[in-house]
Amino acid sequence: MDESLVVVGGSYAGLQIALSARSAGFEGPILLVGDEPHLPYQRPPLSKGFLTGKVAESALPIRPQQVLEQNRIEPVLGVRATAIDRASRTVSLSDGRSLAYGRLALAVGCRPRLLPITGADLDGVLYLRTLDDAIALKARMPQAQSVAIIGGGFIGLEIAASLVMLGKEVTVIEALPRVLARALPVRVSDFLTDVHRRAKVTVRTGTTVRELEGAAGHVRAVLLSDGTRCPADFVIVGIGVLPNVELAAEAGLTCQDGIVIDEFARTSDPTIVAAGDCTRHPNRFAPAGPIRLESVQNALDQAKTAGGAVVGALKAYDAVPWFWSDQYDLKLQMVGLSEGHDQAVVRGSPEEQKFSVFYFRNGALIGIDSINRPGDHMAGRQLIPAGVPLTPEQVADPSFDLVRFVTAARKAAPAQAE
Ligand SMILES: Cc1cc2nc3c(=O)[nH]c(=O)nc-3n(C[C@H](O)[C@H](O)[C@H](O)COP(=O)(O)OP(=O)(O)OC[C@H]3O[C@@H](n4cnc5c(N)ncnc54)[C@H](O)[C@@H]3O)c2cc1C
Repeated sequence: MDESLVVVGGSYAGLQIALSARSAGFEGPILLVGDEPHLPYQRPPLSKGFLTGKVAESALPIRPQQVLEQNRIEPVLGVRATAIDRASRTVSLSDGRSLAYGRLALAVGCRPRLLPITGADLDGVLYLRTLDDAIALKARMPQAQSVAIIGGGFIGLEIAASLVMLGKEVTVIEALPRVLARALPVRVSDFLTDVHRRAKVTVRTGTTVRELEGAAGHVRAVLLSDGTRCPADFVIVGIGVLPNVELAAEAGLTCQDGIVIDEFARTSDPTIVAAGDCTRHPNRFAPAGPIRLESVQNALDQAKTAGGAVVGALKAYDAVPWFWSDQYDLKLQMVGLSEGHDQAVVRGSPEEQKFSVFYFRNGALIGIDSINRPGDHMAGRQLIPAGVPLTPEQVADPSFDLVRFVTAARKAAPAQAE
């Protein structure tokens, strides 16, 4: 049997699987196959600092190249894995090669959901997922005066903030009655809508896009379902992503809006692990059943579990979900999963743009959304996984010392609260 580990997908999860497998004692060759031409790089700045010019391309790599060399990880970049033959344990590549594997890891992530309407193929209709998308978007923005962003999710709103700060006229169009409706409760999404409106972003909710109108092959306007015509030099589409399951599904692995894995990041084939945005996994913070998460935290933590599983070091994935988004001078941080909460308590001051909403279910803390209150977020990362009983009354009391409470909880149960 070939002793190589082949990792498909050269981003957060793929690189971390390779590093974790190596540190867990995997001795054979490790090949990191990625269809993008770049070494693994950070995606979050693409809609934020990279777009505004504050973060240079040279600052984007997740790890310096030497780290790959030191860990004997061989990057195979600009090449796509096109098929997996599980019987012969080989992966076919788009350049005609075929790689034999002893162990295979899938970290193939997601791709943008495409806008299925007339005019979506016009020039000037852009998406943002990859560094190349970001370079193209950034290069074209000097020609833009007005930009319409379709989709009021995190990426749409981050791009809106970046572009309005660059002096563009920005309109965000969201089909649901409020922005970030799937990710955030109404209180926080209303707060963010106000922030964007005050920054002069036009936010249109509860309206869908009927058609994109063009002239000479280039987009000129967005026609909305209510008949409004919204002129735009460019249209940026951010209507969610789809997990790249095709490679796994065609190889017969169980997939269901994501590659299905167990708590040890193993797919339905025990020689194949998977991690990151592409997986559907059991998560103890999601009582309703397996979920798919799209976050750097999940990609990295799950990849550590997957890397261990490659050498049979099984440690169940147990990390509390967390996420962040930067818009203007706001740092939004989320920890836990607040869906299904029956009580929400505000701490801090929305007027001063420094507050958190603590979510409880049956009296237990299950999530915190923080705006410019990193201390509350960090407290949640300790308290929620450890199940420390914090009450809604304590949270509501401005004189309650949360930092002291967390420190005491950590001392009382160091192993749990770590
Ligand atoms: C603009 C932007 C801003 C973001 N901001 C934040 C943020 O603020 N906070 C946060 O937590 N998360 C953020 N995210 C999400 C975060 O970047 C993702 O959750 C993370 O990148 C997931 O990592 P991954 O390794 O699972 O997948 P990906 O990063 O999607 O990487 C998968 C890689 O696999 C490659 N691939 C797919 N199929 C194949 C194949 N067959 N052969 C070879 N290669 C293949 C893909 O091209 C890609 O390079 C943001 C994402 C974007 C796009």
